[in-house]
Parts: sequence; structure tokens; C-alpha cells
Amino acid sequence: MDTAYFEKRLTERKKELTARLSRLESELDVARSIDDDDRAIEGEGDEVMEELGEAGLSELRAIEAALDRIESSRFGICTRCGQPISTERLMAVPQAALCMACHREINL
Ligand SMILES: [Zn+2]
Repeated sequence: MDTAYFEKRLTERKKELTARLSRLESELDVARSIDDDDRAIEGEGDEVMEELGEAGLSELRAIEAALDRIESSRFGICTRCGQPISTERLMAVPQAALCMACHREINL
């Protein structure tokens, strides 16, 4: 298992997400400081941005967990059944914690 490659990809994605989330955060602050008259409209934008933030945050948490698994040499092992996760799946989703079979079972 070439964890160095995945570590690089995960670290880069983490940087990208962290930057995007802090940009989102400052945009939300700006939206909140707008007058009451505009608040209803701005409020809708807020929700969309907060959803984006939620998605970004959960991806970030998954990436951090994956980086932890690299450090403790558990990367590429399904956290549910202990079977190896296919390289194909890790190439597509480097932060995957579950093998395809467990992923399917959980998302049924
Ligand atoms: Zn599994």
C-alpha cells in the first residue's frame, strides 16, 4: 500500500477544504451584518452556504480520520469488517473508511 501517495492527496484536499471553509465563514459573516430589510433574502443564501459548510466539514473530518489511519498504519483497512479496501475505491475516495461491501450495507 503506497500510503505516501494517499497522504499527499489527502493533505492537499485538506488544505483546499480548510481554505474554502474559512472563505465561506467570512462570507457568512458579511451576509449576517447586512440590514434587517435584506435579511430574508440573505437568510436563504445563508442556508445554502451553511449546507456547503456542513458538507465540507464532514469531508474534512473524514480526511482527518484517514490521515490518522495512515499514521497508525491502518489505512486502507475497512473500519467495520477489517478487510482491505480496494485500491480502486481508495483512488476514487482516498478518505474512505469502509470497504465497498460495508459501504453498500450501511447505505441501504
Ligand atoms: Zn468492510
